[in-house]
Amino acid sequence: MIQHSFLIDGEKIRTEDSFEVINPATAEGFARCSVATSEHLDAAVSAARAAFPAWAGKSVQDRAAMIEAIADAVEQEKDDLAVLLSTEQGKPVHTGAAGEIMGALKWARATAKLRPSVDVVQDDEAVRIEVHRKPLGVVGSITPWNHPVMIAVWHIMPALLAGNTVIIKPSSYTPLSTLRLIEIANGILPKGVLNSVTGEGGLGRMMSGHAGIDKIVFTGSTNTGRNIMANAASNLKRLTLELGGNDAAIVLADADTDKIAAKIFAKAFGNSGQTCAALKRLYVHDSIYDTLSTKLAEMAIAAKVGPGNDPETQFGPLQNKAQFDYVKELVADAVSNGARVLSGGQALDRAGYFYPLTVVVDVSDGVRIVDEEQFGPVLPIVRFMDVDDAVACANANENALGGSIWSADIEKARVLACRLESGTAWVNDHATISPNAPFGGAKQSGIGVEFGLYGLEEYMQLQTVRISK
Ligand code: NAD
Repeated sequence: MIQHSFLIDGEKIRTEDSFEVINPATAEGFARCSVATSEHLDAAVSAARAAFPAWAGKSVQDRAAMIEAIADAVEQEKDDLAVLLSTEQGKPVHTGAAGEIMGALKWARATAKLRPSVDVVQDDEAVRIEVHRKPLGVVGSITPWNHPVMIAVWHIMPALLAGNTVIIKPSSYTPLSTLRLIEIANGILPKGVLNSVTGEGGLGRMMSGHAGIDKIVFTGSTNTGRNIMANAASNLKRLTLELGGNDAAIVLADADTDKIAAKIFAKAFGNSGQTCAALKRLYVHDSIYDTLSTKLAEMAIAAKVGPGNDPETQFGPLQNKAQFDYVKELVADAVSNGARVLSGGQALDRAGYFYPLTVVVDVSDGVRIVDEEQFGPVLPIVRFMDVDDAVACANANENALGGSIWSADIEKARVLACRLESGTAWVNDHATISPNAPFGGAKQSGIGVEFGLYGLEEYMQLQTVRISK
């Protein structure tokens, strides 16, 4: 079995200790990964600190050109990278994995076009006040297992463009595609600018407590985000926390179910439901509840669930056993609370973490499948009579990443969307993101935003320069 290395100061490091990386389509190990100790982390921090002054001293145009070059180099290898991503994550090679890599390239190139500005807020006879934006230093990036390549790019590229150096720790479930990405980037970047470490257990904790790291950008669960925040207090690390979501979508009585069903289906079940801003709770007006539920269940039954390397596969397995068990538990709980299962509802009888696309009806708030983030291919559909009740339910959840309103009346929907308390509110869409619009969670779904100039600011410190004339 191949053992993969992490990379510090331009050098690949293979350790004696290693952990297994599992293919979720077989539930068997297919590769091993090196284990970084606290000494390795210290070495990565020293390398990143040493590289920082020269990197920060380059012009933003020079840094942007290197990000473009990294995107070009990754594109050369996109097919192999998609196979690696699919094998460790589970998503279909030619759609999910290839799409994730193309999305990552799009984001990298959009980030390379950003330019932090110097603002002049006052300039008169007595005084000139300039506001500069400066890099923070060393950024630690901690990523999850659902979209590992895309999220690594979301973290790394703005951090680098802003002039910071970076250490990334991917999820131990899906480390390999990230390690390859960092290797490719190191063919272009000066050594020490971008480093990787891998390991299980305490490595992320060590990073969030490390005195030599100035900022943590983290994408993952809300509980881990809380741990990171507590741990990061010792040196007042800057934080961007992109955390869990339990997005509600509200479908009004006037919506055309023929028009919206396929889109709702895609937004709920894409990546087998393992997306932070997936549509996770569907509230449908009583008058179209049965029609829309039936359409969604028919699509779910027709969908092809299978291994990522089968070209017929539309939806891969759950990524890991813990998530697989959790999804099974939530569906069983819903059924014991009187829910009806219109499609799926039982794990597939085969090796791997396969769960069919599952539509659950006759559920309401107060049942776990509605209240908790399922992060899997199960869509609970809740009936409502009064839209104010539906908005209240959407806003009652502690998660507030996204939400959406679906209606034939765009202005009515826009006004309702503005009443959602989430970081993003969509009208007749869900989970669609753009590199120029801020994305982040309200309430327990996070702190800070990513993307565009809004996201770039999170990797920079404002400095006011006040010149007395
Ligand atoms: P997770 O919190 O279990 O793990 C995320 C990362 O944190 C992993 O690299 C893990 O090794 C590391 N980690 C674990 N414990 C840590 C600790 N105490 N200190 C520091 N690091 C630690 O999350 P996950 O299960 O990998 O990802 C799924 C979750 O991520 C879901 O809740 C999903 O909604 C969320 N997510 C959010 C966004 C967003 O943009 N808001 C995007 C993707 C995923």
